[in-house]
Amino acid sequence: MSAVRLHGVRVPHMKNTAGLKPVRMDIPTVVTIPMSMHIGAPAEPVVKPGDTVMVGQPIAKAVGLVSSPVYASVSGTVKKVDDMLMSNGRFMKAVTIESDGKQDVWDQLKVPEINSFENFISAVKDSGVVGLGGAGFPTAVKLDIKDLSRIEAIIVNGAECEPYVTSDTRTMLDDAELVWEGAALLQKYLKAKRIVIAIENNKPECIKTFQKMCSGGSGIEVAVMPSIYPQGGEKVLIYNVLKKIVPEGKLPIDVGAIVINCTTLAAIARYIKTGMPLVEKCITVDGSAVKEPKNVIVPIGTPVSDLFEFCGGFKAEPKKILYGGPMMGIALPSLEYPIMKNNNAILAFDKKEAEAPEPTACIRCGTCIESCPLRLMPTEFAEAYEARDAERLGKLKVNLCMECGCCSYACPAKRPLVQTNRLAKAFLAADIAEKKAQAEKTGGEGAK
Ligand code: SF4
Ligand code: SF4
Repeated sequence: MSAVRLHGVRVPHMKNTAGLKPVRMDIPTVVTIPMSMHIGAPAEPVVKPGDTVMVGQPIAKAVGLVSSPVYASVSGTVKKVDDMLMSNGRFMKAVTIESDGKQDVWDQLKVPEINSFENFISAVKDSGVVGLGGAGFPTAVKLDIKDLSRIEAIIVNGAECEPYVTSDTRTMLDDAELVWEGAALLQKYLKAKRIVIAIENNKPECIKTFQKMCSGGSGIEVAVMPSIYPQGGEKVLIYNVLKKIVPEGKLPIDVGAIVINCTTLAAIARYIKTGMPLVEKCITVDGSAVKEPKNVIVPIGTPVSDLFEFCGGFKAEPKKILYGGPMMGIALPSLEYPIMKNNNAILAFDKKEAEAPEPTACIRCGTCIESCPLRLMPTEFAEAYEARDAERLGKLKVNLCMECGCCSYACPAKRPLVQTNRLAKAFLAADIAEKKAQAEKTGGEGAK
């Protein structure tokens, strides 16, 4: 892996809403807030039906090392604390709040006092902020580096390479001060020697804004990146900015890097300034079926259907609805799903855009390998998966696939490569788990 050059694909940008300032939607009558809007252990509800809650009041506490607290996004009455079916097919606890329309703010909110690295990290944890670019990893865990001398550079991710999505672009334009304050906090408490704000060259206004702020020996710099998908992928960005490759099984900090999304950073700075935890999101609403695409600010837990309605409804029957962009977004089976912390867009596409082209036979052209940012071999994955050959899948490193979709996008035969990769990864993981369980039963060596 050490000699690989990171590739990618050129996708149509479709940043239709980049010039549209976010608008606030009317407060929804009901919000449904899942307890797992992050990677790690689900939060544990601390409210029950009948409780009155106010905006910013804790409704669930973080459990374990990798978790994140959850706060009420509207004021009103808790109606239900029960299981809901998530878009990934799993059941998850969720708190449903009926809004009283007043948006009364919790009277115990206070600006956190910060005078050390430890209480900075605990403030980030209390903010409820997780990777808002889509990853959902609890940010406090990411920033809690025991040996700060390991940090060589922090990259603020402003690449936003998915087509259509412009919510980060709006953060960089409308909340540039907050991003800047967030970067200053990282300099102060993480002793970051170098902070690089990485922005794709299809966002000239954002680049101009931060270049202007950077002048004057601030220790913060702007890196203008080519607009190539997936420029915003963590490992891709580390390579393209710092020319370092994160080895298999290692973390960015192992090569001296931390990557933090620009909206995540702004949300941390906002909490530290105001004491208001993460309770709302700016969401790009777009796609060929949407009448009036917009950037909309909504309380977390707002039903997706309310956002589409606010955007004038549909101009064509929606055949595909996505949480996130078209390359890595997750398909939603209905409009009743809620907006979550890590959502940045909801897209709806008509029949023409939603239809997957009929795949034809592989012509062994190698375009999929050439376009893979990690130079993996999707064709080989497909063959090994078809043969249910776990050993070969392991050797081919299917586990490294980040499901970016470049291979499927570039394939002239329109083969559903990323879907196969997903299945192959799950198959390999299950095989490893089974072998480990067997080895434990017999007291032998576990599968590695
Ligand atoms: S989906 Fe996986 S195999 Fe395909 S291009 Fe992305 S990383 Fe490579
Ligand atoms: S890009 Fe498509 S047709 Fe070409 S080798 Fe890969 S799977 Fe086969």
